[in-house]
Amino acid sequence: EPIALAQLVSEVLEQYEIAFSKKKINLNCILDDAIIISGDRDRIEQVIHNVLDNALKFSPDNKQIHVTLSLIEKKAELLIEDEGIGIPEEDMSQIMERFYRVDKARTRASGGTGLGLAIVSEIMKKHQGSFSLTSKLGKGTKVKLLFVNIL
Ligand code: ATP
Ligand code: MG
Repeated sequence: EPIALAQLVSEVLEQYEIAFSKKKINLNCILDDAIIISGDRDRIEQVIHNVLDNALKFSPDNKQIHVTLSLIEKKAELLIEDEGIGIPEEDMSQIMERFYRVDKARTRASGGTGLGLAIVSEIMKKHQGSFSLTSKLGKGTKVKLLFVNIL
């Protein structure tokens, strides 16, 4: 199924508009709208949702979220970066596991089951894509999604 990725990203972002404005989060968005990929639209939408949900949930008020879509070496690269609480080094290896959440305090405050990233990882694998996450505690988190099935 051909997917106009920039359009899909915009559609998902629209659903976050109110939540972003409630937290006074500024969205910084640069999307290359010529990129068409092949894949399962609903699944890719879920991936974008899960990553954005985390960016929003783990960002304090008045921060920025950057969303960038560009074509790099014949791959579509979608970056979602936040300036939120970040992830401690010692948890990094486990956060993609099902039900893993960093600690009780942040868990209670933010809600969720710990499935979001496990689902992202699974869907990206099914699309021969890749998913990586880098983070600095107290500084923010950057998620990189690479889609290889470019049309
Ligand atoms: P769910 O997604 O099921 O609602 P969740 O958000 O806790 O629950 P994941 O999305 O799988 O679960 O994320 C796992 C854990 O990784 C989170 O609980 C959180 O501690 C950490 N994490 C994920 N994304 C971020 C982020 N952008 N900033 C800070 N911590 C993050
Ligand atoms: Mg989540």
